[in-house]
Parts: sequence; C-alpha cells; structure tokens
Amino acid sequence: MELASRMKEGSLLEGLENIAGITYRSENSIIRNPDRGLYGSGGNRECGLDGLPSPYLEGMLKGNEGIGILSSRGCTQHCTFCNYSAMSKHTIRYHSIERIIDELKYIQAAIELNPPRFMGVNYVEFLDDNFTLNILRAKKILDRIIDEEIRLPLLCNCRPENVDEELAELLNQAGFFGIFMGIESAVPSVLSYIKRIRNAKPQSERDDYAKEKYYITKVRETIALAKRNNIKTYVGAILGLPSETLGDGLKTIEFIKELNVDYYAQNYLRAYAGTELFNTASNYGISVEPSIFMLPYNMHYAYPVHEIPFGDNSSLQEDLIKTTKQILKAFAGGPDTCFGAENSFDIAIIDIYENYDFRDVFHWLSQYIALDGKVIILGMHKDTIEDFDLMQKVRLESCLPAIECYYLRGSLGANSWNVFEIINKPLHGSLHQWNPRFCFAEFKKAREGPKDSKNSNIHLIYCLEKEEDVYFLANESNALAKRNAERFFDGVFLDGCRWSRGLCPALKLRRIIINQDGDVLPCITGLPLGRMNEDIRVLREKASKIFEISCERRQCKECLANSRCSKCLFTNPFSEEEYCELQRSNSEISGFVARSKIANAFNPGLLEDL
Ligand code: SF4
Ligand code: SF4
Repeated sequence: MELASRMKEGSLLEGLENIAGITYRSENSIIRNPDRGLYGSGGNRECGLDGLPSPYLEGMLKGNEGIGILSSRGCTQHCTFCNYSAMSKHTIRYHSIERIIDELKYIQAAIELNPPRFMGVNYVEFLDDNFTLNILRAKKILDRIIDEEIRLPLLCNCRPENVDEELAELLNQAGFFGIFMGIESAVPSVLSYIKRIRNAKPQSERDDYAKEKYYITKVRETIALAKRNNIKTYVGAILGLPSETLGDGLKTIEFIKELNVDYYAQNYLRAYAGTELFNTASNYGISVEPSIFMLPYNMHYAYPVHEIPFGDNSSLQEDLIKTTKQILKAFAGGPDTCFGAENSFDIAIIDIYENYDFRDVFHWLSQYIALDGKVIILGMHKDTIEDFDLMQKVRLESCLPAIECYYLRGSLGANSWNVFEIINKPLHGSLHQWNPRFCFAEFKKAREGPKDSKNSNIHLIYCLEKEEDVYFLANESNALAKRNAERFFDGVFLDGCRWSRGLCPALKLRRIIINQDGDVLPCITGLPLGRMNEDIRVLREKASKIFEISCERRQCKECLANSRCSKCLFTNPFSEEEYCELQRSNSEISGFVARSKIANAFNPGLLEDL
C-alpha cells in the first residue's frame, strides 16, 4: 500500500529505503529492507484487516471475474512445508463479518447483472488459507450468509478436524457446493514428521501416532459428512514428503482413491524459503537447488515420486487433458479466424532439430506472437532435461510473451511423453489407442463406437488424415446427423479444419509452423510461405493473396457451399476439385465437425452459431 501510494504520487524513487518489506535494485546492488510487521495483528483481531481497502467495494474489481474473496489471512498451524503459515508467522488475521457480507452482496449483484460466460469464474472461492480454522467464526459467517439470503456458489479450504455436523449443514445451506482439504499424507509417521497435527508431542515421546491416526479417521468422517450434505469434496496430497517412501506415497494415493472424492490434487513437494522444511529437507535425502525455471528451486526427492500413477479425477489428469486440448487445438486447425486478434498469431509449432538456435527463432517470434500465445516445440534429437531448461532460459531472455510453451519430446515425465505420443501418432504413424481417455480412432472403424461411449470422460480423436476417412465421414454425415447420433459429437477431428465452419486458419497466419529448414508454413498440410526472419506482415499478405486467387479460381462467391465452407488453402490429400465436390455434396460435414464436443471446447460459443 505504501509503495502503491508512492507510485500514485509519482515519487517512487525517493525514500525507498524507508519502506519496510520491499526488495529493490539500486544501481548494481539488490537492497532488501527489513520485514514489515503483519498488518492487522494488533488491536481488535476480529476486524484487523478491515483497514485494507476492498478491491470490490472500492470498484477495482467488477465482481464477475471469478477471483474470490478473503475473509482471513494466515494460519496458526505449523506444517513444516507450508509457506502460508510461515509467511503469517503462524498467526491469523480477520476481516469483519460485515465486510465479508458486503463483498458477497457486491459480487452477487455483479453476477446477476452480468453473468460470467465461462466455467471457472462462475463461483466464489473463499481464498483463506484455512476458512474453518476458527469454527465458531465460520459458523457465524455462514449464519449471516443464510440470513442475508445471499445465493452464490461458494467454495472454501478447510482442515478435516475443523468440520463438524453443524458446520457441514450450514455450509450446504449457505451455498457451499464444495470444500477443499489438504490431506497431504495418509501415513501416520509421515504426518508426524511434517508436524501436520497441531500440538503433537515430539515423535520420541510417543510410539503410537495416536493423533495422526485420529486425523486419518477424521478425514474419512469429514468426507462422508460432506457427501451427506451434498458438498463436493476436493482433496490434496503431497508426494515426496520427509521420511516418505515409495510405499508410503502409494498408500496415500490408494487412501485417496478409497475416499472416492470428486477431485484430488496429486502434488509433488516444493520447498519454499522461510519454511522449516526448506532448512531441514537434506536430513531426509531431499535436495533443494536454485533453478532458472519458473519456480525458484529444483527438487530432488528421496524416492521416484513420478512413478506413482495418478487417477482419473486427479489434477495431473486434468493438466494432461488441458494440455492435450491446447495441443490438439493447434494441430486440429488452430484458432478460427472468426475469433480474436487479427494481427497476431496464437500458436507457433516449431520442429526443432539438433543444434537449432532457439535464440533466432524466439527472437523472431517475440516480435509477433500474441500475449496469450502458445509455443509448441517438437523437440530435439537430444532429449534431456537440460535441453528443456535451456529452451526455457532462452524463452525468458527473449521476452517471448507466450504464456504457454509445450515441449513435446522428452524424458520429462509421463505427462510430456504422453502428450508427445498423442501428437506423434497422427503426424507420423498409424492410428491406435493410446489412453483410456484419449484414444485415436480410425474414422471408418468408429461406426461401432467405443465400448463405453456413454462415459463422457472418453474422448475419441478422429483423424481425417487419409482420404478414406473423409469419404467415410462424407458418406455417413448426412445420415448420422438425421439420426442425431450423439456419440460422434464426442470427438475431435484432427486436421478437420478443412471441413469445419469458419475460414481456413491459414489465411490470417494465426498458427504458424516453422520446419527444420526454417521455412514458415501456415498449415501442417500446406506449402511454405517464406522463411523465418521475414517480416510477418509480408507473409500474411502472401497468405491473403493465395486465398484471394484461390477463391476467385474456384468461384467461391457463386458456390452453394460458400457460407459453410472453410475454403481450405491446401486441400491435400485431395485435389481442389475433389475437395469442392465433397463440400458441395455433403452439407452436413462442416456442421458435424464443428459440433464435435472437443471442438466446441476449443471454440466456446461455436455451438450457438450452428
Ligand atoms: S466448395 Fe470450393 S468453391 Fe465452394 S466455397 Fe468451398 S472452396 Fe469455394
Ligand atoms: S489449409 Fe486447409 S487444412 Fe490447412 S489450415 Fe487451412 S483449412 Fe486447415
């Protein structure tokens, strides 16, 4: 606040040495000022934080962004890995209940006026480190939410010991659709080492881990309690904890699977400076080294944590799905020209080979790629974590604004390997099943459908890479559309942009492919437009010119299919004539591809336009 006020007054550079709690550069030195005292820890603790302006009530946030609210800061517990309780010096500070209610009312009014369109912003999360730590206060807040008739989908963090029957009922009545609990481990000795249970005696004075065993029982009870009250359950585990063995890690994940929760976060231990764990990790065979990557430290665990498989309802599976969707989006046609910025591109696919200089390519890309762009690197022949680190380092040095960068070849763990596999197969090999949730299917074999097609978690990826796949789709699409055969909407059509609605993405050059020779292609099946290092505006003009000429040659304006055809620039493996003939004589192809469930996830709103 002090720094922000100083910036607002325009006198930022004067007197920085008097602002507690900041670190800054002064010429060639890094200056770290003394820590700032914890705001709101003196005086009336029930409302100690109220002196801080509310981002909602002060009008900084509109209320429908899905950002959540804070009713308290900090945690009194002593879990050795936790940076939140370390930062708060194991104290908790509160906002008044009045302020919380005012903020919730503000958010409710904003959402009613302007409902959020996307999943992920349509609920309000209490971002407190531990909302129910003070169970009596939590009940008072819930009572007020109920009395004030606030109707919002709510979510909070809590600990299993801090949920009782009454609280669970109140949570349900107040609109909490879910609770999140960090379980961390299901092994009593590990829970003891990480001081998970408050006031537990040192291990040497005990031999039965009674409190830890009670904690595990309480986890079971709280999950059951939540379920009885129609509250979804989200839990977290940390693998690689001090003293933990591979067997212990497996036991924890098995325990979570038995709980049958709605979702679980399978995390790997991270050591944060300032925590007890940071200073003691080496006692347990865990090493913590500085890193150039996004997180400040590389971790080396005492056992191979990544060998522990993750379940269908785990965060890792979610990450894999999200990543896969992003990558498939790139390969399945890229961004539709109907959406978004016209003068930037969203996705760059780089086919790297040995000795490729990242600096060249990232420097060139950095001038053109959009802020929320993605870079997909198909990897080098050398295949090490050092390659990946080098790529990240150069990316940061080049100030490449892309927020997501995927490296699709490597020994970086199951995720990246699986994702690479998913892409590798349709591009270079035959189609075959890979993963129960993402299986490739030859289109002509899809007639029977997957055995468990009713399971909405199964997504088929139909690859239209062979002529016969497209002929099959063309033959079947009209009939299937009439029968409203939903199972076919559950897939994505890889390389289906030729048959989807919306103009060919190659036209605006919003997806580019840089091949091993440094050629720039607008489409996987297309011809090079030019060379890397050329002015992107010139390349775009070339693409537009090809489009104009091709539309004129094909006489698209007079064509029956004009309104629904992508007008593919590079129609291979078809000739232009074959492509046009297929488009004209099969009116359902484009709608069929566009209605694909995953295609719709890529381009929200597409269904509304059909
Ligand atoms: S079918 Fe051929 S001629 Fe008709 S709109 Fe498509 S590309 Fe143009
Ligand atoms: S040229 Fe054809 S296959 Fe390539 S992006 Fe355009 S529509 Fe898709």
